[in-house]
Amino acid sequence: MKKSIVLFALFFISYSFVSAQSDREMIEETLSENDLRAHIGFLASDALKGRDVRSDGLAAAAAYLSSNFQMYGVKKMPGMDSYYQQVGLKSVTPPSAGFIKVKDVSLKHGEDFIQLDGNNGSILAKKFLFVNHGMEADINPKKAKGKILVALCGDGEEENPQAWFGMAASKRKRAKEAGALGLIEIYQNAQLPWKFLTSFAMRTSMVLDEGEEDVADFQHLWMSTTDEKALEVIKKGKGKIDISVKGSEIDRFKSPNVVGWIEGTDPELKDEFVIYSAHYDHIGIGRADEEGDSIYNGTRDNAIGVSGVLAAVKNLSKYPTKRSALFILFTAEEKGLLGSKWFVEHPPVDLDKVAYCFNIDNAGYNNTELVTVFGLGRTTVGKHMINACKEFGLRAIDDPAPEQNLFDRSDNVNFAKKGIPAPTFSMGFDAFDDRIFKYYHQANDNPDSVDYEYILKYVQSFLLSGRLIANDPAKPFWTEGDKYYDAGKALYGN
Ligand SMILES: [Zn+2]
Repeated sequence: MKKSIVLFALFFISYSFVSAQSDREMIEETLSENDLRAHIGFLASDALKGRDVRSDGLAAAAAYLSSNFQMYGVKKMPGMDSYYQQVGLKSVTPPSAGFIKVKDVSLKHGEDFIQLDGNNGSILAKKFLFVNHGMEADINPKKAKGKILVALCGDGEEENPQAWFGMAASKRKRAKEAGALGLIEIYQNAQLPWKFLTSFAMRTSMVLDEGEEDVADFQHLWMSTTDEKALEVIKKGKGKIDISVKGSEIDRFKSPNVVGWIEGTDPELKDEFVIYSAHYDHIGIGRADEEGDSIYNGTRDNAIGVSGVLAAVKNLSKYPTKRSALFILFTAEEKGLLGSKWFVEHPPVDLDKVAYCFNIDNAGYNNTELVTVFGLGRTTVGKHMINACKEFGLRAIDDPAPEQNLFDRSDNVNFAKKGIPAPTFSMGFDAFDDRIFKYYHQANDNPDSVDYEYILKYVQSFLLSGRLIANDPAKPFWTEGDKYYDAGKALYGN
């Protein structure tokens, strides 16, 4: 009798202990400082040579992530037979020479025009056609067929050259589909002088390979000229046009995003996903510093963020939340947010099922009492991050350097553009100053140069924030008036 009472009491005590286990305890049980040292120590080791896209080091990092997913029972996405979502990429070496000739106007590659897309070759078109901004309504396929199209950059409203660049691919697609031989866009913008653009465009770059049909000799060019007369001639769109470029190279390849999920526990909320994401690439090997170190290890940027996602994998595999968790480690962030761009254009789940994208990425830190969140106040769940950080003795603040435009400089922005509330959780900094630049994209961003006691608290805060968001019955959203508020309404249809 006595014995069974004791047993019963023991059962009751242990049962109530389990049921009352707090999120904090779940996190402390599944995450240690040593876990983080192991992840960061491997990912940022010299052996991985800075995890550049298309390197053995990046492949080793991807295999490490994949085996972690495997170990913790992360599920593969529907329709995928591994954790790898292969991202189509191409490395583009610009032409070494080229010209455009129209009447007595002659423009030179690298000075007056640059190539956005195209092969080497020559096109002699009997006609060319001015099509305003080259938008949907501007192009009549009957008229465009067999001609070189000339358009103004942008859409006539947006003034930001980066946005113009973003529109270029769809204009090109439209022109190709209309049967045009090429597209020349005229660049006139005070925000970014043409000279900067040309020097940038003369470097080898990486872009997404959307598998567009290779139309023989199709040329997509941006041109600029201060020669008013030349501009007049080009805009008239009359007569013959002769285009020639040589020396350009396009090299296609694939690099993986590592993706998987853990099912939620709530019968209804489990149909929604909270994304935990980080980019796992860095910038590889570069110029040696004073110590002769040429490996850019990318500890802060972003082995630490990746270790945060791996910590979430382990934690959620044991203690899933009400909403399902979707883990994504992006490739090619450093090449222009390409892995995340690919993900949102080829999502393995419908994007309106994604309730939140909780991205983690770092340039550096200079204040170990803080966590800096780009977009802390921009979504309705900022309070959860504030409370989570407080729980581990840290203070969450919003972006102290809005002039750096950091919200738009990590993978979160590709989700934001689709309407998904998506901040970036970052290590604490109170100013984007020399203390950040000391390590940001430098060879000395080594795994022995960081404070692991702080990193533990930072990652604990990330996990707790995620748990609070994923268990909150209220669905996260943009705060009213936010730049992405309408995109969110459109996505979720509310
Ligand atoms: Zn970076």
